[in-house]
Amino acid sequence: MSEEFVKILRKLCGRENVFNNEMELASYSYDASYIRGQPKVVVRPSSVEDVAEVISAAAEHGVPITPRGAGTSLVGGPVPVRGGIVLDMLRMNEIVEVDEENMHAIVEAGVRVRDLNARLDGMFFPIDPDGLGVSTVAGLIAEDAASPLSPAYGTARDSVLSVEMVLGSGRVVRLSGSMVNLAVGSEGTLGVITRAVVRLSPTPESMSSFSIRVIDASDGLDLLSLVYSKGYRPEVFEIIHRDVLDILEVDPEIGAIVEAAFIGSEPWVSAQSEALRSSVEEVKPLGVEEAEELPRPSMSWLTEALKKAERSAVFISVSVSRSSIRDVLQEIDRVAMRMRLKTITAVNAPLGWIISGILFDPLDEREYQRAIKASEQVVHATLRICSSARLGFGTGIGASMARAFEAGFPEEADVFRAIKSALDPMGVMNPGKIIP
Ligand SMILES: Cc1cc2nc3c(=O)[nH]c(=O)nc-3n(C[C@H](O)[C@H](O)[C@H](O)COP(=O)(O)OP(=O)(O)OC[C@H]3O[C@@H](n4cnc5c(N)ncnc54)[C@H](O)[C@@H]3O)c2cc1C
Repeated sequence: MSEEFVKILRKLCGRENVFNNEMELASYSYDASYIRGQPKVVVRPSSVEDVAEVISAAAEHGVPITPRGAGTSLVGGPVPVRGGIVLDMLRMNEIVEVDEENMHAIVEAGVRVRDLNARLDGMFFPIDPDGLGVSTVAGLIAEDAASPLSPAYGTARDSVLSVEMVLGSGRVVRLSGSMVNLAVGSEGTLGVITRAVVRLSPTPESMSSFSIRVIDASDGLDLLSLVYSKGYRPEVFEIIHRDVLDILEVDPEIGAIVEAAFIGSEPWVSAQSEALRSSVEEVKPLGVEEAEELPRPSMSWLTEALKKAERSAVFISVSVSRSSIRDVLQEIDRVAMRMRLKTITAVNAPLGWIISGILFDPLDEREYQRAIKASEQVVHATLRICSSARLGFGTGIGASMARAFEAGFPEEADVFRAIKSALDPMGVMNPGKIIP
């Protein structure tokens, strides 16, 4: 990238908001995945006008531009795999308005979930993908993120009313109704979200949670079917698979842990809890603990195991029909054994959402290659097992699942290309993501 171009960016956004020294660039070269790529320059815009001008300049000079929120993506979404500009959105962090009567908030792109929730009283924003409130609102919209509470509140898509977005052409548009779907899950490949109107939900009156230790994930799935057959719907029902518990050296008799919760009015929660208690006995649990707070999110189990294993992970995220979950878990175990690799896997059972990390030693190139191969095998097997499987559910496709997406969904990849060439004619927006 020429010094001339950097000068243009400095003129647009101010010298202090454009930097290109090696040390600072390195801190924008990764996210929570194994994908790496260093930008040539980082720009920190403070307004929609800044964003529009930077995108127009990037399009004119053919320079790739990658938006970045909190950088918590598990799939390399905010990593600039083709270099160019990283647009750090964290300065655009104003909570513009909280409309209590209509239960919505207008926020700038870089507002973090924890800051939004801290401003709210009697209401909350329910999509908190990392469970710590670190993600930005635009980052989670761009990934159509899910969370343990998604069986009750949906994914990001269900909480966005409208967005303001700067397209790859530099044009500023406001999208509402079904047009919002152009922004949701777009992973920064079509434009940059600068502002959003998000739906808020009433803070639940009551909550009860269960941590249930069972012989294996199958028992957890049987338990969910039993609860459903009684007409109840847990708001949280996550299963921590055996591979995680093995790494954490949990009692080897325990082959899976179910983290379930009910939230809502007191009578509703107590009726649901009673139904669960009576169903639990039928699967002969190895132990049950009850609490009055949300259970530990599955991703927290996964990150603890990842840390303990001292490994990196290639994450695969898929959603499948509930009846296919068992087969996909077996396939993950089979591939891991065949490739002599460890995995960390969890299931959000009501959504059929399976997230699995295939572990590798980052200093061992051959093991890394085996992990990539294993991830491709799991994806192919999943698509074979379940014809309605969806790739990248919750996490986005990013760079890490782009090849698998193109191979598994060639027609959708073509449609995506057509949409991208209309909204981002110079192809500068986050290249290498969603499709290779
Ligand atoms: C411990 C842990 C647990 C997690 N658990 C979950 C989980 O349960 N469910 C889940 O869905 N995810 C989960 N994630 C992944 C991550 O939290 C989500 O993907 C989150 O939505 C990303 O938000 P972010 O602000 O960090 O965005 P980033 O990671 O910075 O970016 C994510 C994507 O959004 C794009 N983007 C960012 N800002 C903008 C913008 N203003 N306009 C357009 N595009 C933009 C980026 O280019 C990138 O493609 C987890 C991550 C961690 C580390």
